Amino acid sequence: MRIDIISVVPELVESPLGHSIMKRAQDKGLITVELHNLRDFSTNKYRQIDDYPFGGGAGMVMMVEPIIKCIDSLKAEREYEEIIYMSPDGELFEQRIANELAFKGGNLIILCGHYKGVDERIREHYITREISIGDYVLSGGELGAAVVTDAIARLIPGVLGDETSALTDSFQDGLVAPPVYTRPADYKGWEVPKVLLSGDHKKIEAWRFEESVKRTRERRPALLKDADSKK
Ligand code: SAH
Repeated sequence: MRIDIISVVPELVESPLGHSIMKRAQDKGLITVELHNLRDFSTNKYRQIDDYPFGGGAGMVMMVEPIIKCIDSLKAEREYEEIIYMSPDGELFEQRIANELAFKGGNLIILCGHYKGVDERIREHYITREISIGDYVLSGGELGAAVVTDAIARLIPGVLGDETSALTDSFQDGLVAPPVYTRPADYKGWEVPKVLLSGDHKKIEAWRFEESVKRTRERRPALLKDADSKK
């Protein structure tokens, strides 16, 4: 699977995807992430990619042509499953979408907006999916693109060391994760739940499930309602 990220500030995505699990995933060839500087596709010598908005008002708008040139050059090389635009009014990103995109495994283009965003005609004619990472406004789509890429990449088999690890994380089974503990078993009187030290795997599983359900009820009750309504 390959993810191409288009941005005016690609450096903003480099670091979040250049270390730890994301770096190893790329080093192992399990996913390829390529960053593209939109200015390289500018049609003028000042490497300009934005212009004043028609109708006036504050902020600059990203122009159609450099974006089309960049996307077309990528599409000429390979097939893409989706051309995603990061946008605060897009579909709210959640684990379900990460699963869907990781499972399909097709290549993705992620276009990061900046300034006031992109000329609407790109959204109408080129973009196949719009994703928001939450109801707040960031100064660019780069952090969102890193979030989406990370969430997808860690679901690809082999990316996480322990194969089952992603499956036991929050939201994978419609529940949030149970609490976790490590050594020491007693930190100045703060004790780890006894069951976790029992060595009885059945009991431990049952405890974890109960804690997950309890937490989900307390913190994300809508997940349980969703599950009930699907029964
Ligand atoms: N004028 C736009 C906001 C532009 S913010 C509006 O009011 O909707 C600049 C860019 O940051 C956007 O084009 C988008 O790519 C990115 N961005 C900002 N907030 C985001 C969010 N919550 N999720 C995803 N991308 C976001």
